[in-house]
This record gives sequence, C-alpha cells and structure tokens, in this order.
Amino acid sequence: MKILVINCGSSSIKYQLIDQGSGMTIVKDSVERVAELEGGHAQALRSILGGLAAHEISAVGHRVVHGGEKFSDSVLIDSSVLAAIEACVPLAPLHNPANLAGIRAAREMLPGLAQVAVFDTAFHARMPRRARAYAIDRELAEKGSIRRYGFHGTSHAMVAQRAADFLQQPLKELRLISCHLGNGASACAIEYGHSVDTSMGMTPLEGLVMGTRSGDLDPGVVLKLCRELGVDATDELLNRKSGLAGLSGLGNDLRDIESAAAQGHEGARAAINLFAHRAKKYIGAYAAVMGGIDAVIFTGGIGQNSVSMRQRILQHLDFLGLRVDDDLNRDARVSEELPVVDISTRTARVRALVVATNEELQIARETERIVAKSVRPSEPSPIPIAISARHCHLDRATMDQLFGVGSELEVYKEISQPGQFASKQKVNLIGPRDRIDEVRVLGPLRNKSQFEISRTDEYKLGVDAPIRGSGQVEGSAPITVEGPKGTVHMVEGLICARRHIHMHPDDAKNFAVKDGDEVEVGIKGGPRDLTFGDVLVRVSDKYVLEMHIDTDEANAAELSRGAAGDLVYVAPAGDVQAALRAPIGK
Ligand code: ADP
Repeated sequence: MKILVINCGSSSIKYQLIDQGSGMTIVKDSVERVAELEGGHAQALRSILGGLAAHEISAVGHRVVHGGEKFSDSVLIDSSVLAAIEACVPLAPLHNPANLAGIRAAREMLPGLAQVAVFDTAFHARMPRRARAYAIDRELAEKGSIRRYGFHGTSHAMVAQRAADFLQQPLKELRLISCHLGNGASACAIEYGHSVDTSMGMTPLEGLVMGTRSGDLDPGVVLKLCRELGVDATDELLNRKSGLAGLSGLGNDLRDIESAAAQGHEGARAAINLFAHRAKKYIGAYAAVMGGIDAVIFTGGIGQNSVSMRQRILQHLDFLGLRVDDDLNRDARVSEELPVVDISTRTARVRALVVATNEELQIARETERIVAKSVRPSEPSPIPIAISARHCHLDRATMDQLFGVGSELEVYKEISQPGQFASKQKVNLIGPRDRIDEVRVLGPLRNKSQFEISRTDEYKLGVDAPIRGSGQVEGSAPITVEGPKGTVHMVEGLICARRHIHMHPDDAKNFAVKDGDEVEVGIKGGPRDLTFGDVLVRVSDKYVLEMHIDTDEANAAELSRGAAGDLVYVAPAGDVQAALRAPIGK
C-alpha cells in the first residue's frame, strides 16, 4: 500500500511516497521557497502530484503541527476536521495555515482518496493536568486555551516504540526519556507508553536550548525585552536569533559550533555547555517525575550524530544508572536498517540508546491505522460494563498482618470473573488527609497487594495514585492500611485502576484484538454519550467478557447496572486494503 506523506511547511513542502508494508521510501523530494512561487502551495502541490501520477497512491497522510485541545489522535479528514484545524491557527500562526493549504490542495486534486491528519501535539494530549497547566489564573487560561501542548509527538512516539522493540520489552512496561535534539529540540517523559510530560509548551519555544530558539526563560526576561524592544522584535529574537545561534554568534549548525569550540571560540563553548546542561536537567527532572527510568533515547540530527554532545549530557548521570561506553558512543551510527544502537556499558542499569527517527514513516503508519479504524463492521456486539467500587487485593504477608497469621478470606459473594469473589473481610485506608473505612477485599489472595480507588477517593485521602493496569504496582503510591489485627504501611500498592476489558480468547478473536491492545469503547443511547479511550484489553481463558470502570468513570457517563458499550472497531489489514480502494466520501 503506497501512502503519500505531505509535510507542508510555511516555506517548503517535503513529501515522500512510502510503501507502508515494507517501510521503503519510493519517492522523496521537497520544494523550497514555496511562498515565492506563483500560485503558492496549491500550485506547488499540483506539480508534485502531477509528477507522481504514475504511482497508485492509496491514501495521503498530512503532518499538522497543532491539534489544540481537540485532537488527541490522528484523524480522517473531513470538512469538520478542516474547520477544527483552522480553529487552531491562532495557536500556530505560521504552521497551521501552511498545513491547511496542503490538505486543501491534496483533497482537491485527489478527491477520492482517504486523507489523514497526524498532529505533532496528539501524543501529548493526555498528559496529566499537572504537566499540562501553567500556574496562572485558571479561567483566563481556559478561555485562551493557554496550556502546554507539546510537539515532536510523532517522533517521540516512534523512537519509543523502536526502543521497546530493540529492548524486546513491551512499551507498556517501560519508562523512557526521549530526547529529540535537532534544530528544534524537546524531551519527553514516556511512562508505560504515554507522554506524561514534555519540554515544549504552548508553543515550540519552551524547554531545551535549540538551534535558534531560547527554550526556558524567566517570564520576567520576556517582559523586559518586550518593553525595551517591542513584541515583534522580541518574538524574532527568541525564535530566530537565540539558542545555539544566539549564544555562539556562529549560526545554528552544531557541527560548525563544535569545530569553533575546539579552536577555543568562547561563544561556541558557552553554546555547547548550555545545551548539554539544559538537556541533563530535563533528564533528571523526568526521572523524578516517573520515579525511575529504563532507558534514555537520543534522536534528531544532534542526538543521532553528535558523539560529544551525547557524552556531555550523560556525564555524571551514574547515580541514575546511566553509564556510557565511550567506544560504543563514538562508533554509533543509526540508519533505517539499524535504527537503534545501545551506547551504555554492559552493566549499566539504565540503557542509553541512539535511535533513528523517521517521522514520515510514522505518519504513513498512522494513516493506515486511522483508515483501518474508519471501517466499521455491520453489527457490533455489545460489551457488558461492570462498575468497580473501591476495593483491594491482598498478598499472604499483608493478609497475615491485617487479619492474623494464617487467616483466610471468607466468601461473601461470587463476582462475575470466574474463581474470584468478594470476601467478608474489609480494611480501612488511611491517607495523610483523611481515611476511607470498610474497603472490600476481593479474593483469592494474590502475589502482590493492590488497593484500587477512584480519583474522588484520591482527593479525600490526600494521596497521588497513578493510573495503572492491574498488577502494575511498582512505584505506585504508598498507603496505610488498617485491619482488625494490625496496621500496615504499604510503600506502594495504591492505584487508580486503568479501565480495561476482560476477554476470553474467543471474544478477542471476534473483536480482532489481542492481549495488551488499547481500544476505544463508545457508550451510546444514554443521557451522556461518552467514548472511553485508552481501554486496555486483557485476554485469558479464565475471563468472561466484561469492561471494568470505576465509579467516577461510570458517573461521567451516567451509567448504571446492566450498561453496555461498543468497541470502536479496528479493521484487520485485508479490510483496510479494500477500504482504501473504495472512495471515502467528502
Ligand atoms: P530539524 O529539527 O530541522 O529536523 P535535524 O533533526 O535534521 O533538524 O537536526 C539538524 C541539526 O543536527 C543540525 O543543525 C546540526 O546542528 C545537527 N547535526 C547533524 N549532524 C551532526 C553531526 N555530525 N555532529 C553534530 N551535529 C550534527
């Protein structure tokens, strides 16, 4: 399947025709200085598409810089999507209009083809609020959509997956820090597959030192510059004349700066030192945010190529478990054939990886995935929904401490998953702020104790419980638990349960999903229709089909007993081929 990927920027149009199956690039080219051409973007695209007439294109993927608050995923483009991208123009006044021009021209010239928008911001859209918000007046922020969005999402998502493949561990079990260091630069904390913080903010100006952008500044500096130079000159200064270029006075190419530094150039040395210091600072911060890390990823022109910058950034990070092997670092060369190289010593606890990014290929993959999602089966079968009140599972040792040595759980009543039961036993949870009594223990005993509460409970207790899948208690929140025979201070185990669906392998086959997949489930026909994203699929022959959500989630959709949802369907590959051949409306 051939997918045309278009990256329509303000001054240039880059495009690639990619064979999605093999990942091979069939055509790759760009047109520069588009704004100066007669007919602008539309005319340039017309000649690009003319040149590709000999190829059978199946779908088009467009890079779109800003998806605002509206888009947390790539999307099939129709007129309402176009309007929503248009509404994000004030957030990215240079980029989004160019992206839109590209989409409009491609739709006009390839009217029968599916076109998909892939956003730089989407990967970060579900960052927790604490990472998303600025500490300013909340009403004002909400009105003006002033919040952190993050960028480079396509690249961070891709290199994280490549790192996981290389480490042969599921992305969902890894805590990664991705450092995309190019002309633009950003770091991203990726906890179990999700972006939980990133260094770029409302605009790509925040965070790391970049080629020509300043990155982090005291807002007081901006105020002073605005007063002295005016707003436009400050904009120009911070976006185009700062960063490596501003510090070194030599331009934005690190290669030139590194050569000058070797000759003793003061500005060049300052530029290199600041760049490395800032990146190191973010690695430390994100390790703290995630409570530990498994790997740090270097990508982008600088991350992939500058041996000495990687060395500087990773120096003195032994305390985090990072240790570089100088020979491996010096010899690291990544390519599409060998996209990941490990540069850490054999005994390092945390891996340092150089990873090749390929945003175009990722856009092509996203395009195929979204087209697959848009193909729905005729008769979706409903998934029963069970609402879980707060509860806990205990291990032998905790059971002994709370209820007495050798005590056993007594069955109060069977619950829907075979073999599991609500027990007669209950415990009290004690947080720093308040307590919640009579929390039901579910049986049988497990390998590790786990206490599952809702967000509402979290605020009552005064704790910060991470969202986790069942059993993923490592590094979760501490809690004090009281039973009739004793009190236990758990150092971890308190979680907000991640919504999930239990499926028998037969159900998984019917829905064409597998264990560990993330799906969407739509609730329709009630007073408050809602689609739940990020629903984890868990498959076992011990399960019966049932989706589990907590009381807060059920309240949000006004669900009651006996409710059911529909899986938002993802078509298998064969259907996608067929769908791509059929015209896709509007
Ligand atoms: P963009 O963000 O524009 O996509 P890239 O990711 O291509 O940028 O990164 C470009 C930057 O990478 C260049 O400005 C240059 O400073 C740096 N770079 C590329 N190769 C090397 C190298 N061998 N040594 C040091 N820096 C390099």
